[in-house]
Amino acid sequence: MKRILVTGGAGFIGSHLCKQLLQDGNEVLCLDNYFTGNKENIVPLLTNPYFELIRHDITEPYYAEVDEIYNLACPASPVHYQYNPIKTVKTSVMGAINMLGLAKRVKAKILQASTSEVYGDPAVHPQPESYWGHVNPIGPRSCYDEGKRCAETLFMDYHTQNGVAIKIARIFNTYGPHMNIHDGRVVSNFIVQALEGKNLTIFGDGSQTRSFQYVDDLVTGLTALMGTDVQVTGPVNLGNPHECTMLQLAASILDLTGSSSKLVFQPLPQDDPQQRRPEISKARELLNGWQPQTGLREGLTETITYFEQLLKIQKP
Ligand code: NAD
Ligand code: UDP
Ligand code: UDP
Repeated sequence: MKRILVTGGAGFIGSHLCKQLLQDGNEVLCLDNYFTGNKENIVPLLTNPYFELIRHDITEPYYAEVDEIYNLACPASPVHYQYNPIKTVKTSVMGAINMLGLAKRVKAKILQASTSEVYGDPAVHPQPESYWGHVNPIGPRSCYDEGKRCAETLFMDYHTQNGVAIKIARIFNTYGPHMNIHDGRVVSNFIVQALEGKNLTIFGDGSQTRSFQYVDDLVTGLTALMGTDVQVTGPVNLGNPHECTMLQLAASILDLTGSSSKLVFQPLPQDDPQQRRPEISKARELLNGWQPQTGLREGLTETITYFEQLLKIQKP
């Protein structure tokens, strides 16, 4: 039985990862400061004696004896990471240093949840890991993008300088149950708006693209990446190459919810990437043919069911 630390374990992706790691027969330490995470996400795990929940902020040092670390702690939606941008940088950079210091001390393997945002508003399409990106260092998204880029640098430097066993996952837009209802990401916004009969807010003209990955596919990719040979250290894209415009996404959600909500157009936020699609041949090759299994309509259906239940609970 391995003892595994998951930072950000009460968040959207972290809660699914904790559940999977427990199912695989591991002991899980879930560490979170609850900035964007939600205890409800992990309540079902609390009865498992091999699950331990710790309130902790990773900008502070943390001591434990573990075999593996998944470093997921960081607000991920623009609304949340821009709320306190300095704290976002601290979480990415000081958090990475602390978790790498821990990994170094106990000789644990450590995986960083990096992001497709390291590619910025990409001039190369689709994005391979070899692309260095197109990021504004002083814009509203910089705290997140540059924080994550610096964390990748720290991971590489702890590997080369201190021999820490590292993995870097560049995660593309991921959605599914347990997304924070207020976090402003497009999938949760559109679903909640459609279910509540409100207008769907399209930023810009809706022609910008993203490639949406269902959370179960990501979790499979993350655990497979952690399991790769020690010499696999470079970044690996984990995402679904199926690309769609925000107008197409809105149409699918209206169709699946049967909602008669209308579309309203609002200004495009500054530095909003125009296009994004992962090149996943590296993941396929390194992770035994891994590729996303869940289509957009199937994943959206699961997510809609989740939000339907949540909204009913919240209604008086
Ligand atoms: P989330 O906001 O649901 O989860 C992040 C978790 O980290 C939350 O539980 C939050 O409370 C916790 N946290 C934040 N700051 C912390 C701190 N200083 N100390 C301790 N805990 C802290 O977001 P998510 O979508 O689950 O994202 C998880 C990770 O995956 C993040 O690192 C994010 O950057 C990365 N990622 C997510 C996506 C996506 O589309 N969801 C895409 C790329 C990368
Ligand atoms: N650290 C931690 N837990 C540990 C070991 C280290 O949180 O088990 C922190 C430690 O406080 C330090 C950081 O990780 O600030 C980096 O550790 P490292 O050993 O690389 O650097 P140093 O202690 O020399 O600054
Ligand atoms: N977006 C939108 N309406 C919303 C929220 C987001 O049109 O209510 C757009 C946003 O401008 C971006 C895309 O949807 O072009 C994805 O946004 P999200 O915040 O989910 O992810 P990210 O921009 O970080 O990829």
